[in-house]
Amino acid sequence: MESLNEIKHGRTPDILLRILSDIINLWPLSQLVITSVYRTREEDQTLGGSGIHSAGRALDIRIRNLPGLPQDTAESIAAEINSIWVYDPGRPHLGVCYAKVHGSGPHIHLQCHPNTYRRRD
Ligand SMILES: [Zn+2]
Repeated sequence: MESLNEIKHGRTPDILLRILSDIINLWPLSQLVITSVYRTREEDQTLGGSGIHSAGRALDIRIRNLPGLPQDTAESIAAEINSIWVYDPGRPHLGVCYAKVHGSGPHIHLQCHPNTYRRRD
């Protein structure tokens, strides 16, 4: 896994950090742990990934200290973030944020595309 310095200055697009920043600003009491950023193609295939982590366009976070039912809240976070960000205008059914059920608690997958933009400020 990349260090935060590598995330800032390496392959991970700044836009992923902007999306992450929105989550932190909207849910300041949540506890976020980055669990996966760049993966080799082999690592990604082993995990059944789509290849987007290997392209350096995704990161996963474990999210804790959410109010209410954690998975429901994680899904609300994803819906809110997807109302702010457009992943790819040519494929409106895709989002930048997905809440995933995981044994250790809710996880959020963030992804971006060269056409990703922020819908509102
Ligand atoms: Zn992911």
